[in-house]
Amino acid sequence: MTHSIIRAETFDVRFPTSKMLDGSDAMNADPDYSAAYLRLYTEDDSLTGDSLVFTIGRGNDVQITAIEILVQQIVGLSTEDAFNGIGDIARALSADSQLRWLGTDKGVFHMAAGAVLNALWDLFAKERKVPLWKLLSDLTPEQLVAAIDFRYIADALTPEEALAILKDAQANRSQNESLLLANGVKAYTTTPGWLGYSDEKMLDLTRTAVADGFTLIKYKCGKSIEDDQRRLSKVRTEVGPDFKIAIDANQVWNVDTAINWVNQLQEFNLEWIEEPTHPDDVVGHARIAREVAPTKVATGEMAANRLIFKQLLQLNAISFMQIDATRVAGVNENIANILLAAKYQIPVVPHAGGIGLCEMVQHLAMFDAVAVTGHHEKRIVEYVDHLHEHFLEPAKVVAGAYKAPALPGSGAQMINESIQKFTYPTGSYWVSELSTNGVSL
Ligand SMILES: [Mg+2]
Repeated sequence: MTHSIIRAETFDVRFPTSKMLDGSDAMNADPDYSAAYLRLYTEDDSLTGDSLVFTIGRGNDVQITAIEILVQQIVGLSTEDAFNGIGDIARALSADSQLRWLGTDKGVFHMAAGAVLNALWDLFAKERKVPLWKLLSDLTPEQLVAAIDFRYIADALTPEEALAILKDAQANRSQNESLLLANGVKAYTTTPGWLGYSDEKMLDLTRTAVADGFTLIKYKCGKSIEDDQRRLSKVRTEVGPDFKIAIDANQVWNVDTAINWVNQLQEFNLEWIEEPTHPDDVVGHARIAREVAPTKVATGEMAANRLIFKQLLQLNAISFMQIDATRVAGVNENIANILLAAKYQIPVVPHAGGIGLCEMVQHLAMFDAVAVTGHHEKRIVEYVDHLHEHFLEPAKVVAGAYKAPALPGSGAQMINESIQKFTYPTGSYWVSELSTNGVSL
């Protein structure tokens, strides 16, 4: 069952979400949700490896250039060699002695490494005709540990410790898998909470979310304290005192501002404050966590790598770890992140939304639930109800829970019509949109 990876192709796919103010928050006023999309081809036309890096518009072409440079390292490999050597490939993708200067282990090239690795994992899963969560959950503890680059994190998690965590969980795998297939993993929604929405739209969507079975809703915050107090007060009145409400500042504050601001919102009994300040400011997060308690701190969607997570955990700076499927170097680095969280006993509460992030990150949460920390009350995966129709297997959330995907692969594969239509600037949507606005191509 081996194939050759014969070539790679990229697509600059952009959706005009800025027109609807979907996705608007205090930092990102007008995102056009975009995918720097990668497809690996084998000699079998029906077997491809698909992945994407989520961006919010401008710069998607830069991301694609980085992917095109890195993917050359794996074109020509057999899938069998790639599968058996996936840990070495992950290390090599981050170790090019010249490209490394542009990171290192962060930013455009790190995400490009993630695109290549995620496309490989998608290919491995499709080749074995299983969804990615199942492939990962069936790997031996030794195979999982071999996929991790322990460089720079071994002071917090050694290979031996990672192995012990995975071996401890091994006996529960089949029971955890049955529970997953029956119940899925819990989801929360951000759909009602965008800053660009009117109070009426926010409350309408809140009522819908509660009726749909969600038990936690997240609202964007951070534009003005009066706005936040007014919106949260309306929401709290709507949902009652016990419903869980989280807020997300998308990095707009300095540390002191964050502490001050969040403490003025304590009356709303918030589940967490997300991204209160710059994602690299680990020490700042630790101080915020101490000074806004009992409100808890969550972050991770822009944590550049496993080192940032390591430090956040070492300094007790977070109560929830929000891994993202395309921010770091792919499945490999997220296995490391999940094991770091397991060691420090912090729940992994994945970030999603964007385009394709729900489809992709659910597999990692499900792997965690089956093979690492099991099913527990604190795991809850973000869900945003946008753009799912463009995927071969849209994420399925029913009664506030993600159902386990059944199609082989990682969830990243978009339908071809969507790729063609929204390719920038030559797809039919953009040709018509740009000509309407007087832009000639
Ligand atoms: Mg967020």
